Amino acid sequence: MNGKPITRSCGECTTCCNTTAVLALNKPEHQWCTHCDIGKGCKIYETRPSGCKDFYCDWLKGVGEEDQRPDKTGIVAFRAGNVKSGGLYCIAEMEHGQLDTPYARRLINKALKLPFVVSCSFVRRRTYLVIPTGAVIHPHITKLMMSGVGYKNADSV
Ligand code: SF4
Ligand code: SF4
Repeated sequence: MNGKPITRSCGECTTCCNTTAVLALNKPEHQWCTHCDIGKGCKIYETRPSGCKDFYCDWLKGVGEEDQRPDKTGIVAFRAGNVKSGGLYCIAEMEHGQLDTPYARRLINKALKLPFVVSCSFVRRRTYLVIPTGAVIHPHITKLMMSGVGYKNADSV
């Protein structure tokens, strides 16, 4: 969280219960959580892991238009930490190809200008990082790059 007040509610959206990994449940990205009542909510809401309780996508925090809720756009975006601490702007697609839409491209380009390193999580391709042009890379990000996560320069995407 970045301290921004929560201005919206998830409603029927359960998209991050698919796109996002939950370590406590050993749930990988891009796979429905077994506790998810798709399009309705969490079946273990009261006892869900802290990683779920603390998760707020950017849309929930008021970023973007009302009708751009993740279940409508297929895009879940959130910030993990800040630029100084080597944080990432994480963006995931619900279905193949949604990260190539103009909407997703706009979000990615906006984050690169901050400048955030962007982690793009695809359904059918490996996740890769996009490195902003001329950015000083935090050691935390360098470690990720050395651990085998693919990366590209912003100019080449
Ligand atoms: S993607 Fe955002 S709006 Fe949708 S369920 Fe998750 S936190 Fe709520
Ligand atoms: S435990 Fe609940 S909130 Fe967490 S991913 Fe599963 S369905 Fe979603």
